[in-house]
Amino acid sequence: MRRLLRVNLSNGAIKEEDIPKKIATDYVGGRGFCIKYLYDEVPVNTDPLGKQNKLLIGTGPLAGTSAQSLSKWVVVTKSPLTNTFTRSYGGGDFGAWLKWAGFELVIFEGKSAKPVYFHIKNGKFEIHDASAIWGKTTNQTQEYLEKQHGAKARTICIGPAAEKMVRYAGIFSGRRAAGRGGTGTVMASKNLKAVVIEAERKEELADPSEFNKLVKQQVKGYKEGLGFGPFRDYGTPMGVDIPGFSMGSFPVRNFRSNDLEGWEKLSFLQYAAITQKHSGCYSCMLKCGKTHTVMDGPYAGVTSEGPQYETIWAFTGPAACADLGATVMADRMCYDLGLDTISTGNAIGFAYELFEKGILTTKDTEGMILKYGDPEPMLKLIELIGNRKGIGNILAEGVKRAAERIGKGSKEYAMHVKGLEMPGYEPRALKALGMHYALSNVGANHCNGYAQQEIGYPKPRVLDAAADDGKGDVIKYNQDYVAAIELVNACTFPASNLDLYGLELIGNMLIAAVGEPKFGSADYLWHVGEKVYNLERCFNIREGFSRKDDTLPKRMYTEPLQGGMRDGEIIRKPDVIIDEYYEARGWDKNGMPTKATLKRLGLEQVDKDITKFRR
Ligand code: SF4
Repeated sequence: MRRLLRVNLSNGAIKEEDIPKKIATDYVGGRGFCIKYLYDEVPVNTDPLGKQNKLLIGTGPLAGTSAQSLSKWVVVTKSPLTNTFTRSYGGGDFGAWLKWAGFELVIFEGKSAKPVYFHIKNGKFEIHDASAIWGKTTNQTQEYLEKQHGAKARTICIGPAAEKMVRYAGIFSGRRAAGRGGTGTVMASKNLKAVVIEAERKEELADPSEFNKLVKQQVKGYKEGLGFGPFRDYGTPMGVDIPGFSMGSFPVRNFRSNDLEGWEKLSFLQYAAITQKHSGCYSCMLKCGKTHTVMDGPYAGVTSEGPQYETIWAFTGPAACADLGATVMADRMCYDLGLDTISTGNAIGFAYELFEKGILTTKDTEGMILKYGDPEPMLKLIELIGNRKGIGNILAEGVKRAAERIGKGSKEYAMHVKGLEMPGYEPRALKALGMHYALSNVGANHCNGYAQQEIGYPKPRVLDAAADDGKGDVIKYNQDYVAAIELVNACTFPASNLDLYGLELIGNMLIAAVGEPKFGSADYLWHVGEKVYNLERCFNIREGFSRKDDTLPKRMYTEPLQGGMRDGEIIRKPDVIIDEYYEARGWDKNGMPTKATLKRLGLEQVDKDITKFRR
């Protein structure tokens, strides 16, 4: 029987529950379980930082096995940045440990009266006082918990930024984060500092010999995969070169340009030259984590497991500063404070542009001059944001709310979708990916709908990145594919980016692991992925979201890119792509799933919740 653990932090009640067979079959696991319970249990208009919101932490049905790249953990909740459903994935070992502890999902409810951490040890559960670690960095917290519970325990925790209610704080495990959407802020709102698991390795499989055969097949596929070697050797920093500056998709100066002087200093080869160690998540031979140590200059000696591509972008593009050492320093600071690097970098890019335009002045920045190319104010801003001091207190709200507070036309310069700051891929250069941001259920997030077709991936067909239409169905394809692989918490890097495994293999592994024959059909997993995506959409619709929110910042439609490979590019026909997409999904013109679509997906029960929003 597949199980979940329910922890009420208000009264300390802890309950083990079987996941009903119908839910287990209809939603498979991972992201599927999370949205099903979130939808059913978090009422409409819940304050994301209030007691009624719930924090769901899930692992996948194949986690903790020898299968490759299938042991990530996911956090799902109502986001304090966007007020939408949000999902954020973390790496490391925690997903495997949670599965070995006997649970695929933990639901945290209510709010503790004082800071606590939750401890699972071999079938026993305890809520401990966390006053000794409240206020500590993520690094200090994990060191403390390792001393208390031993090196074999695995932890997720929050840092000081979450405790100070920075709206884009993440949850960290080792050096890896479920960074996006303010999941850490929700955890802090419950006075929950950490979760620690001690568990012994166990693989409970319906058909162990078939499963092992499939793992061997998977490993062979990895070794023969074209992208495997380069990705293992260099990791995500390759994104700086490809697509980055080779396709003009690296946003610079708050999404105005894709031209950065000296960008070659940020090439993945430069990061490779300072890589000390390769590390990976549980049972993943790709080991895409790269520990870097700065060798010279003002940040010499600084070490961080990172930066990954997005963080390299976040601390170079927005402040137009091609300083490799500063990116390692910024990564380390965000890790210690517990900040999402993408939103932090965006907030900094927003502040730099406001300063350039005279909307912010040295009076607002306590004398600091936000000068493009200078990393020092950028690093100072990270510290101010993480501690909610000075101008950092406003930027900690996220760019959407910060613009509302600052006024003076600053809304024009806030680069977000539904309140979530934009990742480091330029929408005007990669238009299917860009319009995916606009349409995504969580706001501007690249990894729940990568559009690899724009850099040559052939399924379902290659796309011309610059074309203004003909993309809606492929955006749906990408979103549903990611939703389907995330039913088992599969890592999207080997799947969407490197094409190292598909749903057929996952389906066969699921049969061998949990013995449910339905899961062996790739069509069934696609169907559940689509259902999950629609249920997430319906969560947002209940909260009042509709077509009006499926939009990019105005800049993307009205200001041509300046310089670089895509000079002059613009998104000309967003409504055409949105119409194509709604039609492919079976949604009406206002972006609401029709009755027929809900019926086809087995979601008839949510029709009553959204019917009043249909046009
Ligand atoms: S590819 Fe990287 S992030 Fe994904 S599971 Fe492997 S090590 Fe973790």
